[in-house]
Amino acid sequence: MINYDYLLLHYGELSTKGHNRQLFVQQLLRNLKHSLGIKYPTLEYEAKHEHLYLKLTPAIEISSLISDLGRISGIQRITPVLRSLSTLEGLKENALRLLVEKTGTFKVKVKRSNKSFPLSSYEVADELGGFILENNKNLTVDVHAPDFILNVEIRDDYSYLSDLSYPGLGGYPLGMNGKVLLLLSGGLDSPVAASLLLRRGLLIEALHFAAPPYTSSSVIEKLFDILKIFNNEQQVIRLHVAPFTELQLSIYEHCPESYCITIMRRMMMRIASEVAPQYGAEALATGEAVGQVASQTLSSMRVINEVTNYPVIRPLAVLDKIDIIKKAKEIGTYDISIRPFEDCCTIFTPKNPKTKPHLKECLYLEKKWDWETLLKKAVAEIKTYVIKGGEVSDEDDSTHSS
Ligand code: ATP
Ligand code: MG
Repeated sequence: MINYDYLLLHYGELSTKGHNRQLFVQQLLRNLKHSLGIKYPTLEYEAKHEHLYLKLTPAIEISSLISDLGRISGIQRITPVLRSLSTLEGLKENALRLLVEKTGTFKVKVKRSNKSFPLSSYEVADELGGFILENNKNLTVDVHAPDFILNVEIRDDYSYLSDLSYPGLGGYPLGMNGKVLLLLSGGLDSPVAASLLLRRGLLIEALHFAAPPYTSSSVIEKLFDILKIFNNEQQVIRLHVAPFTELQLSIYEHCPESYCITIMRRMMMRIASEVAPQYGAEALATGEAVGQVASQTLSSMRVINEVTNYPVIRPLAVLDKIDIIKKAKEIGTYDISIRPFEDCCTIFTPKNPKTKPHLKECLYLEKKWDWETLLKKAVAEIKTYVIKGGEVSDEDDSTHSS
């Protein structure tokens, strides 16, 4: 790759306008400095209304920077560019720099937002095209199916030339849209939900229900490993582990088997709603997908949802399992998720769970015993871990931050 002057970042979610756009740019800038500052200390940032520019120095390895940027949400496209003053001479000089070693066919595409530039877009394309043909005999013009396009952008102060670009993650800068409390199991789905939430600019806190001794501590280890992966995007993630055994056993004692899963899910939602304000979360999230299992039919979801006033975000709601698996492989959680483990749900899975549970029946069953005390106890005994920079510590040993 030649020595480009800048990386031009196109903002994700182009529909973001007005004041929100300013918040968007400021948050993205903070996130970039936070994630790239240590690895690329010489990098300079220029946030403009239309794009964000990263000034490159010889010390920076451009391909590694582009791959790091590919993991930061809020960037739609990454384009290496050459910058010159907005003059025809400047453009010609940079066209030579950019194309000196190129072969094949090309076309010139000009975008001119500087209305005082003396030549029209068409004239610039014509002048530059002729100049390139004169100076590089290995290039010819093909306006219909060129091997590459020379993009020229003429702005008021500077002009930019580019010949290629890379896709970004899109979405919103992390932290811009608030925080959600994600119910994280040891399965395949909820980590994929986590990655979609992060991409949407939502910070996550994770809540897990553990049922020792029926589930082992290796499940928690697994969750640590999964959350460490997301430290690439969110530097500090808290995992809250709620002891669920007593409550769960009491459900199995008092409810018919076919309703156990539904009641259990209602308890999970109740606990999540109870602790969400304490964590600053404004919504709950799960890895549920419509129809995947008995507890994920619309009827079930409705009955389960009834215990909370929080919005429940289900990023995977309409995805096929095959696509979820593909996504899990892409983000690197698949191999961790498939490690054998016991989930509190798998152990207690009834043979014939209700696919159409009735709210009335749930309310009737929940009158039969004092689960509130057990629920309060579970909330009081939540243990919190902090996963930061790939390291795990207990909440007490670490400062509160997110
Ligand atoms: P996953 O692969 O995420 O476990 P799943 O297909 O196994 O999903 P279920 O076990 O029915 O589906 O769980 C549905 C959702 O409920 C999960 O995605 C997760 O958000 C939440 N959940 C289930 N079990 C637990 C648990 N032990 N702790 C926290 N959340 C859980
Ligand atoms: Mg599961």
